Amino acid sequence: MLHAAASTPPATCPRCNGSGWIPVSADSLRVEACACQGDLRRQQRVVAASIPKRYEHCTLETFREKSAVLRNAKTRIQELVDLWPHLSEGRGLLLMGGCGVGKTHLAVAALLEIIRSGKPGRMLFSNFQDLIQEIQASFDNDQVPSKSELLRPLLEVDLLVLDELGSQKPTTFVQDILYYVINTRYNEERATIFTTNYFDRPADVKDETLEQRIGTRLRSRLAEMAERVEFTGATDHRRNTL
Ligand SMILES: [Zn+2]
Repeated sequence: MLHAAASTPPATCPRCNGSGWIPVSADSLRVEACACQGDLRRQQRVVAASIPKRYEHCTLETFREKSAVLRNAKTRIQELVDLWPHLSEGRGLLLMGGCGVGKTHLAVAALLEIIRSGKPGRMLFSNFQDLIQEIQASFDNDQVPSKSELLRPLLEVDLLVLDELGSQKPTTFVQDILYYVINTRYNEERATIFTTNYFDRPADVKDETLEQRIGTRLRSRLAEMAERVEFTGATDHRRNTL
């Protein structure tokens, strides 16, 4: 399968004895690439994408679409995967919905489906809160990777999932760095799939809006680079299945 642990070296392939090549027929000198080479490459791409273990098995197939809202969201992800890598102006998606509706599942599924289908591009998963903490640490401590080392993959990957946008309120200073990352991706037409628990018009007026969580400048940039997909009225599947 795709999802061997990063630390496990691949076992020697019995078909090619690890050479990567197999004879076309027994009496022929001609060889062809063994299928394991594709598997190995896919495995390396999954590892490089930094997908958390919890979400390693999140495919479109395993997504349970129990309502029209969820069906629509799944379709939008499927469309992105089908179009990849030819998204119009690199437009991504902004998945907005409450906890446990499957936003992260779908965002990860996009990365895994693109890798599984052998389509090109560097994929990366990043959790917003972890990212903010890493950015902060890179300024507080000389021992951790420098800011540019930390940010480079976020700027350069072809498809980024930025999970749980707004889960932490960044300082103005971190907000500026985030804007730099997001705006660079926008200018380079590199697609991003965002997930967030916050809405533009929350059902409860006491709840904060996404804009209040991440700032006006970032919210308006998002509007230009990602289509909004709202999971309104979708129930928490984790709660339902317990
Ligand atoms: Zn092989």
